[in-house]
Amino acid sequence: MAEKSSTMARLDEASDFLGLEPWLKRKFHGFKSVWECDIEAPMDDGSLQSFKACRAWHRSPFPGSPYKGGMRYHPDVTVEKMKDHAVEMSLKSWLMGLEFGGAKGGIAIDPSRHSQEELKRVTEALTEEMLERNLIGPRLDVPAPDVGTNPTTMNWFHNKYAQRARTHNYGPFEAVVTGKPTGIGYGGIPGRVEATGWGLVQVFKKFLKLKNLQKKDFKRIGVMGFGNVGYHVARILAEEDFTIVATSDVHGGVYNKSGIPLEKFQGKKDTREIKDCERITNDELLVLPDIDIFIPAALENVITKENAWQIKAKGIIEGANGPTTCEADLILESRGVFVIPDILANAGGVTVSFFEWARNMGKIDHRVPMGELTSDQVLTALSKVMWRETNNVFEAQKKYKVSMRFAAYLLALENVAPLFRTKHTAISV
Ligand code: GLU
Repeated sequence: MAEKSSTMARLDEASDFLGLEPWLKRKFHGFKSVWECDIEAPMDDGSLQSFKACRAWHRSPFPGSPYKGGMRYHPDVTVEKMKDHAVEMSLKSWLMGLEFGGAKGGIAIDPSRHSQEELKRVTEALTEEMLERNLIGPRLDVPAPDVGTNPTTMNWFHNKYAQRARTHNYGPFEAVVTGKPTGIGYGGIPGRVEATGWGLVQVFKKFLKLKNLQKKDFKRIGVMGFGNVGYHVARILAEEDFTIVATSDVHGGVYNKSGIPLEKFQGKKDTREIKDCERITNDELLVLPDIDIFIPAALENVITKENAWQIKAKGIIEGANGPTTCEADLILESRGVFVIPDILANAGGVTVSFFEWARNMGKIDHRVPMGELTSDQVLTALSKVMWRETNNVFEAQKKYKVSMRFAAYLLALENVAPLFRTKHTAISV
């Protein structure tokens, strides 16, 4: 039997724990809207190919602010999965104190099988379809990179949106997506590419400090995923003198008992380019006996009730969204394996997206660094937000005597429950 949606189950449990009203609990199960569409785009050989696209918008207590979340290009994109990820985006934004609604969407497509020109036309078709129905815009919904998309994708999105929307004056156009390239005319913010990985490492270091744990006992790291999150996590940890014992991607993994030196994987696009390492599978990486920390940084539901018993790491830091099922959580907890949850650990991405969007909109916010910036300045501003929230989760964990994940969910709900109440009868948010 399929395991139930872990995010919803946890949300229910957290709502019950806080004694939230039944109507509010029910509201969290609903969605503002869910959209599905067949988009079509010409391929390089002249044929027309169609793809399934979708986007889900969860509930937001911020009617004046847009929805926010990644746009995923992956063969496994389904409406049900994107709905789950939209809820995670809500929780992440609520926890981090970002005034966004949670959204997620994507296209069921394998980007590795398409040329850049084809991906550009597919992205433009998606943008056209969404704009035609008034689904995107700086104040409506602001997509960002996710699995299979990147700053180039966001630039295509922005250009098509601006070209179509400017006759209606829906500006500032660059605020329609985040994670854009930087430089004149692009509208991106330095540091956004590495923000998720950077944020995760900040949370990890702060966690060790708060728990009075020694870095030397948590130095050996296995990272599943070599995309934007996994790559930067591994790079930053290696720069900070942690030992990257293994990493992996869709092609399998690489393992080196004494650590994969930074220069062996820096700048590499996939793990097949990493030399002088033993080849392992993703399943083997997950249960490696000689790592202290396992960082899932690829897709959802990789830690399940089947494999949670075999994990040898002392702790898990979730770089991916939803990598651990509810059943696996219970097993890990009973075995004393700590989990730093996704909605905190990988929130650096959406936090810097918030900086980028606020700057594009000309919105003043004390957390957002202004003026001309280096990536160091942006990442310093990000660190402050990550440290503060890690501290808040740590305090909530002590107060409620619950797991770190549950504490993060409780905080997220406490942050927005009063706001939902004030809007209860007025509008459907
Ligand atoms: N895809 C990222 C996430 O899942 C970023 C979302 C955003 O920046 O809007 O958090």
